[in-house]
Amino acid sequence: MNTNDSTTRLDFIRAIVAEDLRTNKWDGRIVTRFPPEPNGYLHIGHAKAICLNFGIAAENKGALCNLRFDDTNPIKEEAEYIEAIKQDVRWLGFDWQDRLYYASDYFEQMYEYAVQLVKAGKAYVCDLTADEIREYRGTLTKPGKNSPHRSRSAEENLNLFEQMRAGKFPDGTRTLRAKIDMASPNLNMRDPVMYRILHATHHRTGDNWCIYPTYDWAHGLEDSIERITHSICTLEFENHRPLYDWFLDQLDIFHPQQIEFARLNLSYTVMSKRKLLQLVQQRHVKGWDDPRMPSICGMRRRGYSPASIRNFCKRIGVNKFNSTVDIALLEHCVREDLNKTSPRVMAVLKPLKVIIDNYPTDQVEELDAVNNPEDPSAGTRKVPFSKVLYIEQDDFMEKPPKKFYRLAPGREVRLRYAYFITCTDVVKDETGQVVELHCTYDPATRGGDSPDGRKVKATLHWVSADHSLPAEVRLYDHLFTKENPDDVPEGQDFKSNLNPNSLEVLTDCRLEQSLAGAAPLSRYQFERLGYFCVDPDSSYDKLIFNRTVSLRDPWAKIQKAQKNRPG
Ligand code: ATP
Ligand code: MG
Repeated sequence: MNTNDSTTRLDFIRAIVAEDLRTNKWDGRIVTRFPPEPNGYLHIGHAKAICLNFGIAAENKGALCNLRFDDTNPIKEEAEYIEAIKQDVRWLGFDWQDRLYYASDYFEQMYEYAVQLVKAGKAYVCDLTADEIREYRGTLTKPGKNSPHRSRSAEENLNLFEQMRAGKFPDGTRTLRAKIDMASPNLNMRDPVMYRILHATHHRTGDNWCIYPTYDWAHGLEDSIERITHSICTLEFENHRPLYDWFLDQLDIFHPQQIEFARLNLSYTVMSKRKLLQLVQQRHVKGWDDPRMPSICGMRRRGYSPASIRNFCKRIGVNKFNSTVDIALLEHCVREDLNKTSPRVMAVLKPLKVIIDNYPTDQVEELDAVNNPEDPSAGTRKVPFSKVLYIEQDDFMEKPPKKFYRLAPGREVRLRYAYFITCTDVVKDETGQVVELHCTYDPATRGGDSPDGRKVKATLHWVSADHSLPAEVRLYDHLFTKENPDDVPEGQDFKSNLNPNSLEVLTDCRLEQSLAGAAPLSRYQFERLGYFCVDPDSSYDKLIFNRTVSLRDPWAKIQKAQKNRPG
């Protein structure tokens, strides 16, 4: 899909933007924002919001997108997250230029706006506890009750509010509430809390404040102060929109349009920061950047490319209905991009020694291997071939079933870029395990084709034993065994669906020589195996790779079909 193609159908938000530009609604201005709360790392759901907000800015001439830290809650927020979020947005390919903002920079302005509402009799100081406020609120079927403090005079409210700010009251003893309608069918409109007392040190404002604004009060003000035109958020905030509008209307200040879209849910994973934090803190994963995490930093470490994530976000589109996207689509987008961009190399994950009996003992040949069949400009490289090789254990079967076309006793196969070989003997250890194969090669098949037109049914990857590099390779599977990890019996939580086999570490792998010194995070296709990425823990002496995603394996499919066949 080409975004520059004017015939491409726009999603409903982009259609609103296009219409607003056409009618000059915002004097031709378009300003969006991405407003993360710095209380965790970004995940693939955030990537959807980033691609949407920054995407709209990139696609429309003169349009802008701000990066704003919604740092109104001092309790869970940490400076560590701020740097990580900036890095992730940049890595995804977006740029906020000089428009990096912090909600905490607006605290004084927000306070003044609150004073304005207090003076106008539209906000009051309430002495009910949090529990009492909840009790008084009523339910969807039952109207709320007015707080006994609702009728305080503006002077008294102003005085109390000033004392709240001055730190005269303990945490939780008072709040500032909007005076709207305790009988409103929308619970959010039943005198919502604007400020709560919290004697906590904020990572940016220190101890300057002991009252902190709630999301509903703060968010519209942040948007208004930045003169955002389209305030795009997820569907849970649809019911909050009347409140968003109410505050801005009462203050009579710049009034952006809030638009809601469906958040991204992905199968076999969880997306809530609270749950992801639990996985990290309880060490179910190694950290936020564990390659099994749906975090942006986890996906980066796993080897996902920014282009593949952007392309995934384009494919899933933007709409108003909550649904769950199959993680296979994300993996498909990753394969599609890596297929075009990754250099091919040969690596053997579970080595089986092969000795070519008729190959000269000290001979080493440098054979030409194609770096990327999808990109001729990537050229070729030399791979060494010698008498002792490794192939994959899975590529040999002593008693091959039907449809297993790879190496077996007496059978001839091709070694990629090299020769045809025929298996002549099988060596086993005392437990019956195959430990070594003896083969012969046909010198006339150098490069991989037989001059007499002889055909073989399989081509195997291999490495030369003496020239290969030892490596650790980490294989990943879904983090959860269930499509919906929250689907649990009563009394259990999502963690009972963790996949115990989500990580498999292979320590005896052998890689082709050209990978010596491969830079952290560089990506390769290991021929026939999948896409792999150098882990940041990797060093010159100890290479470590992560499997990003496997290639499709028709053999696995056949096996599965056979297993599922009745009888
Ligand atoms: P969580 O519920 O996991 O804490 P959040 O929505 O509170 O997530 P924020 O840091 O407030 O996280 O999110 C920043 C922006 O990213 C918001 O505009 C939010 O709408 C958007 N966002 C968060 N999660 C998703 C998701 N799964 N899909 C799309 N957008 C998302
Ligand atoms: Mg939030």
